[in-house]
Order: sequence, then C-alpha cells, then structure tokens
Amino acid sequence: MFFGRSRFHVVWSVLTLLFLGLACGSRSLPGAASADTILTGGQIVTVDDAFSIAEALAIKDGQIVFVGSAAEVADLAGPDTRTIDLAGRTVIPGLQDSHIHFLGLGRDVTYEAELTFAMTAEEIVAAISELKERLDPEAGEWLIGNRWDQYKYPEMVTRWQLDEVAPDNPVWLNRVYRGVAISTAGFEQMGIVDEDPSTWPDWWLEDPEDFTFEDKIFRAWRSLTIDGETDDYLIPTGAFLGVRGSRLVTVQPMIRAGAGDRFERDVDSVRLGAQEMLRLGVTSIVDPASGMGYNMRVYQEALNRDLLGGMRISSVHEGIFSDHTTDQIRGHLDAIKINNLGGPYLKWRGTKWYSDGGAGTRSAWVSDSFELWEEFEGEENLGYPVLADTAAREAQYRVALEYGWDLHTHTCGDVAMRQAVDLYMKLMDEVRAERLEADLRWSLIHAYLPLEEETRVLEQMAEYGIIASCNPVFQWQEGAAFSTNLGAERMARTQPFRSYVDAGVVLTSGSDYPVTSHDPWIGMYALLTRKSQSDGQAYGPDETLGIEDTLRTYTINGAWLTYEEDFKGSLEVGKVADLVILDLPNIRDLEENPELLFGMRDRVLMTLTAGAVRYEKEDAGL
Ligand SMILES: [Zn+2]
Repeated sequence: MFFGRSRFHVVWSVLTLLFLGLACGSRSLPGAASADTILTGGQIVTVDDAFSIAEALAIKDGQIVFVGSAAEVADLAGPDTRTIDLAGRTVIPGLQDSHIHFLGLGRDVTYEAELTFAMTAEEIVAAISELKERLDPEAGEWLIGNRWDQYKYPEMVTRWQLDEVAPDNPVWLNRVYRGVAISTAGFEQMGIVDEDPSTWPDWWLEDPEDFTFEDKIFRAWRSLTIDGETDDYLIPTGAFLGVRGSRLVTVQPMIRAGAGDRFERDVDSVRLGAQEMLRLGVTSIVDPASGMGYNMRVYQEALNRDLLGGMRISSVHEGIFSDHTTDQIRGHLDAIKINNLGGPYLKWRGTKWYSDGGAGTRSAWVSDSFELWEEFEGEENLGYPVLADTAAREAQYRVALEYGWDLHTHTCGDVAMRQAVDLYMKLMDEVRAERLEADLRWSLIHAYLPLEEETRVLEQMAEYGIIASCNPVFQWQEGAAFSTNLGAERMARTQPFRSYVDAGVVLTSGSDYPVTSHDPWIGMYALLTRKSQSDGQAYGPDETLGIEDTLRTYTINGAWLTYEEDFKGSLEVGKVADLVILDLPNIRDLEENPELLFGMRDRVLMTLTAGAVRYEKEDAGL
C-alpha cells in the first residue's frame, strides 16, 4: 500500500517538473520542489536501523523529504518555507503509547486529581485540596482522584482526613485497579450516619461472607456518641478493596465533563485527551479495548469533527472475550467484519482476549504461588485463569481467524503466557502452511513473565514473531505491589526488557492508563532504570535498556505492531512527518540522568503530525 502511494508520487512529481520546465523554459529548481518546513541546527534522532543522528530535516506535503546536513538542507529552502532553527535542540519521532484505555483521559486530566505521585496519605489529601482550589466546586459536587495504591503508603488515607479539606464535597478516589475510597459525605449520600446505628449496613462492623482474598474494608477505631453514650467503634475509614469490596459503595460520583449527553461528553474527553497526549509528544496511540464498538463511534465522531488534533488512534476490538462460546463470539464479529479497516488517523486493528488477572491484585495465572500466601489467602495462590480449558480457548481463537482478525491476549502470569504462546504457535503454523507470506503481528499484552523455568516462552516468542506489548511504567508505579506479591526475585525478571530485546522479540511500550500514569517519559524512566517508586530500588538492573532501545519501543516497534513501520515510527525520507522537538541538547542526557524524565513534560516544545504543528509550547521560542 505504501509502495503504491510513493510510486504515484514519483509519477506526479515528474509530470510537474516537465510542465514547469516547459512553462518557464528554465532548468532551475522549480518552486514546487522547495520544502514546506525545514528543521535545522539540532540533533535529529532518526531512530533508523543504525540510530543515526542528523543535523537537519525537511518536510513537504506532510512527508519527510530530506534528512542530512544543515548545509545540504539549505538548498530546499524556498520563499514559502518555514525554517525552524533548532539551536542545538533535539528532535525525535512522534511517540506511540501502544496500550492506553484512552476514552476518559481528557476528562481525567481536566477535572480530576492525579494521585500517581502521592507517596503518603497527606499527599493524597494535598492533591484533593489542590483540585478543589482549581475547580472551585459548589457544595455537594464530587471531587474525584485517580490511581492510589495502598501498597505505597505506610497508612492509607482516611475519610476523616479528606473531610478536613473538603467538608462540603463528597470525595471519590479510584485505586489503580479494583478499589475505591470515599469521604464521609459519600457515606452520607448512601444514607449512612456514623452516630445512628439504624443506618449502618450489614457490613459496617463485619466483613460480608462472600469476600474473597482480594476484598477488604479498611476500618479504624473511632469514638462515637450514640444515644448519649460515648464508646469506641471499629468502623470503615472509607477505603475498599476488591470487586466485592468496592461494590459495597453503592453511590456513584457525579463525574464532571463537558456539556451534552454521554456521547457528547466522551467526544469532548477525546478532544481534551488528544491535546494532552500531543503535549507530551505522543502522536499515536493504541486503545487495546475499544468495547463493542462504542469507543470507535466516539473516536470516529471526534475525527469527523477534526477534534483528534492530528493524533492517530489504532483501536483494538475488545469483545470482552473471556469464557464466551464460539457462537457468541461469531455474533460479535458478524457485526464488525473487517480487520485493519480505517485510515491513517483511525483504524480497527485486532481483537483482544483475556487469559488472567494481574500481579497487583494477585490474580495473574502463575506457576509459582504469590508471596505471603499464608497471610493473604491462607493457601497457595496460583492466580486466576480466565479459561483454563485450552481447547475451548483454541476454538475461540479460531473464530477470530475465520473472520480475519489478529490476536492480542492479555497475559500477566507465566501460565497464561504459556497457554497463549502454545496456541499462537499452532495457529501460526497452520496459517503459514496455507499462505507462506502471511504477516501476523500478534501480541501478548503485559507479557510479564516469559522466563519462568516451568513455562519459559521467550525463545518461542522470538521464533514466531510474537510481539511483547509491555507496560514498563508498572515497574516504577506498581513496584511496591509487584515486589510484595511476586517477591523481589521474580519481580527482577518481570517484564525483562533486556532479555526480550536480546532474544529478538519486538518489544512495544504502553502505559495501561488509567491504571497507571499516561506520561510516556515515566515509562521510559522504568525502561532505563527499573526503579520502584516506593523504595527507589532497581529490581533487575540487568534487564534495563539504553536510550536507543527505549526509544524504539515507543516509536518504530509500536509502528510495527500496527503494520505501519513503512509509514511512521522513524525519521526517514518517505515517511510521514510525525515528530517532536525537545528542549534537550542531547538525547543521551536521558540515559545519563534519567531523573530528567520526570520533567520532560515541560521540555516538549513542539509536536507535529503529517508535517503540521499540533502542539506548541507557549514560550517555545522556535
Ligand atoms: Zn490494559
């Protein structure tokens, strides 16, 4: 497809040259050949095969037409060319987040509090206090914060602390995954009054019987005066863990958003989210779970109204495919038949499947028990297989293939990875026996544990071209949970970046927002250091990458995942001009001083897609 288009361009250009040559009767370079934009005098990090660095780059009609020296690029300047003097700054290809649940991001960054960086209960409270100041809400309006994790703090925040900064506003805090915390005003909306036991639900003083190991109600002793008598009671602090635990919170927060119905508000969230990603230097995303078409409708509408701002979305069709029958899956796929349907800004690509839970919730399907099982579960815990019956999973996969869809499977635990790789190999062999040239870009999503003795899949992933779609930022943000649940030793080989790259597995990076921070620069910090946010310790320092491979996972490897490596992902002639100008003299500074990455959000000066400026920092000085 790409070859076809560039051939067309060559024919067109030759005709133009002939015409201009005849009309002007001159052999001089015609105006049509001058560049639209030239970037010169900096460090162009091409991320080509050799990781070459150039001085200058020229863009015409949205495409890169020149990469090379500053002296040569000057020949391409015409009267209408915009020349940007980089003054020694760095240019990289636009970044790709290969795993982001994108729909709510715009709403989140605009109207809600970021708890990723909080390391104490007090810092959570401070974030809510700041949010309140920023939004200036009416009494009764909800304040929402996202991404707390009790593993990271000595003490989890209590509602009494939240009440102090927001006495008139109910507060709702989402855990990274499967957990919620609310303030006293939230309980009041549920009709619960501390000093009136007749309003207390069954679970107020004692856990419900259906609680599993992951469920928990945080409680603390409080002195209450009931019917004139003061006594101490062990009552909920407002924080709940687990699916069943979280369900006890029956009130729903009113979510702030733009105007209109749900659909309109989601379109607006996508507009805001695209702005946020472009501001960070991200020009492409993969949404790995687009629902049964709803997200796609929202994205399509945003694109139609030109609200994506030039950001590119590759949307994976999630059929909530877990233990569904083949007929159910057939029914789903009948509705949307075409894999890779779409254009350069939005397309469908592949189906998503679930094999297990996660490491943070002790539900990944593993061959060796989670740590501290005596304390947590009372018996060895090997996690949660979505479909232990491999033959049933095979039948499901076959339906997807029948309809021409790629396979992308959520696998955190090593047994889940083993099951998926076994089936992928079998099915890939069959497909390739029929069509030798079959180009299959199937992935394992998360892909935490490819090196376990009993289940090792690393070499087979390389041999079969199975992509590892990892989420590096977990090593940092969820370091406390992972080291507790998997143990320090197993965590050291969780998401083994270096082993993947050395084995020849295509490794892509995604955030898995809203579970974790969507800031790609923090993901890079994790790839470069593997340091945990909570204790600053590097788990598996031998599994870190250098800056070259780190950038590849966020650029060209991501493009490979979506079959677009000939179109984008590096700064080479003939590719689309998706790029980012950074206020950074040398890309290797990030390797030498990874702490810089926490401030990179403020060093993105300009983001372009298809040669057009999509974000420019206010005082960029370009
Ligand atoms: Zn995800």
